[in-house]
Order: sequence, then C-alpha cells, then structure tokens
Amino acid sequence: MRKIGVIIIVLFSIISCQKEADKPETKIIKPKKAAKVEFGINYADYNVIHDTIKKGDTFGTIIQSQNIGNKRVYDIVNTVRDSFNVRTMRYNKAYTLFRSKDKTNQLQLFVYQPDALTYYVLDLRDSIPVAYKKTKPVTFKRKVIGGVLKGSLSETLGNHRVDVALANQITKVFAWSVDFFKLKRGDRYALIFNERFINDSIYDGVEELEAAFFEYKGKIVYAFPFVQDTTTGKKTYYDENGKTLKNLFLKTPIKFSRITSRFSGNRFHPVQKRWKAHKGTDYAAPRGTPISTTAAGVVERTGYTAGNGNYVKVKHNGTYATQYLHMSKILVRRGQHVAQGQTIGLVGSTGLATGPHVCYRFWKNGVQVDPLRLNLPTGESLSAKYKSRFLQEIEPLKRELDSIGNL
Ligand SMILES: [Zn+2]
Repeated sequence: MRKIGVIIIVLFSIISCQKEADKPETKIIKPKKAAKVEFGINYADYNVIHDTIKKGDTFGTIIQSQNIGNKRVYDIVNTVRDSFNVRTMRYNKAYTLFRSKDKTNQLQLFVYQPDALTYYVLDLRDSIPVAYKKTKPVTFKRKVIGGVLKGSLSETLGNHRVDVALANQITKVFAWSVDFFKLKRGDRYALIFNERFINDSIYDGVEELEAAFFEYKGKIVYAFPFVQDTTTGKKTYYDENGKTLKNLFLKTPIKFSRITSRFSGNRFHPVQKRWKAHKGTDYAAPRGTPISTTAAGVVERTGYTAGNGNYVKVKHNGTYATQYLHMSKILVRRGQHVAQGQTIGLVGSTGLATGPHVCYRFWKNGVQVDPLRLNLPTGESLSAKYKSRFLQEIEPLKRELDSIGNL
C-alpha cells in the first residue's frame, strides 16, 4: 500500500510541475505515452470508463444506461450465465466499460473485477455475447535488505518501504530466539524475501522469508526455511546448523530428579492433609540442586509466599510462562533475561513442602496446564538424512546474508 502511496505522490508532483510549465526555466520532458493494454484490450481503440458498483446497481442497470434494451440485457445475461454469473457482482467492486469510438458510442466490452487478481470480460462485439474469466499474472520480485538497525524492526522495515506483514512473520520465526524489544541500534540484520506483484506493477503483499539473520546480544541468529516432510510441505525454520529455531522446553527444570507428584485436578495434600488440586509437577532433589529455567525468557516475578515459599516466575513469550516453587535460594531478579537452562535458583523446601523439591508450574495463555500432556513446539533438529541437503541449500543464502550484513 505504501508503494501505491508513493506512486500517487510522484504522480501529483508531476501534475503540479506541469502547471508551472510556462515558466521559461522549467524544462519538462514529457514521457512517451505507451499504448495502454489491460485485460488484453487496447485502450486506444475505445472510449474507456472506469467505475465501481454503487448501492442499488445491478448488471442490468449498468448496461441499460448504455442504451441497451431490456430484451438484449436479458439475452446477454442468459447467454453468458455459465461463464459469468452477473449476480455475483458486488458493491464497491471495479468495472470498466469500453465503448466504440465512432458516433454510435456503443458498449463493446464490459470488464468486472471482483478482486485485484481476477477479472471477467464480457465481449459484446459480436451478435452473440461471449464472457470469460481471467487471472492477472503474478510475479515475484526478490528483495534483499540489511545493514545496521537504526530503530525498531517495524521502523527499519518502514524505511525500506516493506510491508509490516513481514515484521509479523519475522517475529514468529524468531519468537523463541530473539526478543525484538531487546534489539539495539547498531545490531546488524539481513533479510531476503519476495514481494508479490500483479501484472508486474501492482504491489500485492509480501511472500515468505527466504533467509534472515539478526544480531542479538552479540550473537548472529540465522533462520532458513526447509521442508522436511514433503507430504505436508510444511516449512520449518532452522539455524545455520540445522537446529530448529523453535526452542523446545527442557523436559525438566532439574537435571537428575524424579517426579514425586504429577499435575492433578485432585490430590491429597501431604502438608495440609486435605484433597485439593495440584497445578504443578513436583521433582524431588537434594537441597541446593540448581533449578534451570526450561526456556529462555524474562523473569516476571520473584518472591515468597506462605504456600509457594521462595519462587520465580519466567515469562517466555506471549503464550507461555513457567514458575518454580520452594527454592532455598533465588538467584535471579525481576526483569532479568534468562537463557534456556540457566540456573535461576536452588532446590529447597520453603513454603508448604514436606521435603526438598521443586514444584514446576506451567502456564499457557494464562491458564495453568500440565506440560507433560501438552503438544509443545517440537524443537526437533533436522533429521540426519536431510542435513547435507539443507547445508548445501543454505550455503549461498548464508553467504548472501553475510555480505548484506557486512559480516
Ligand atoms: Zn507441587
């Protein structure tokens, strides 16, 4: 859309220049007007009127106004019914009338455009009307941008006149590996993607990311799409070593431990001696055992309550958060960024606990759930049989990214 805006501004400035054409110092070179051909119709051969369907308009009212009698309209509608059902014409959609240039000024062709890509041509030049549906050709233009971040991701894309839809795509791809609020000016980035154009000229949106990297906390995080399962055709993004960018949660917050109590809607509380829900998974371990955050994120809360004892809650992204209870010691502070596997506290038995353990709690969209029953992002790396093909495929892309980002 931004592109179209720019084109309009350019057009207006050309028009305003022409107004000053009589000034002697202003020299205007008029561009040679190329013959306009659209819908396979040469505009030069007709009087052309563009319009949109207004409230109350029907195909009948539109072409009747072109001095076509009721009977003829009826015949046309019936004859072309199978290839162009005029009842599907909708309010606000574009149509074009092509009328003969002679005195009769008769309607010769009618074009209806239900969307930017499709159009129907109704050809009335012969006594028997003909209608057909066509699709405008779509082309893709590869775009390569990169350098040093001078602002936020969306500002940066805006400066390159790239659709914000790409920003959404990028944040999804990197959701588990880059916190875009933490990117700094001066961090490097490089993006390769395709833009869609209709008829080679009308911008129609951004295609998927072909390759990318972001410098994040001094490290370069790459993303390359690859289809492992050709039956589903699903693309997954991997780093330069074929490791998935969708970080799996660590299975447990403690390396060597055993589950002593699972998530349950109803269990007999060992301290309170009554039945209540247990919205966590208990892992027993000796006091002082390091507790790791199961995924990267930001420490949302730390503190002490009579029930939880010393606890830490980590927010991983817009969907997931985890909490760790009964610590003997908290080793992080609120707002701190933590990497997957980082030690955030030590096992203890503070709060309501019979012995040293960590109660691991898991939130999805604000609701406490059992992570052991959850279908979490797989986090699986590329299978070995695809790896050499993957590495071969990404090699030129990586070289290209590196050259854009000046690595
Ligand atoms: Zn528990």
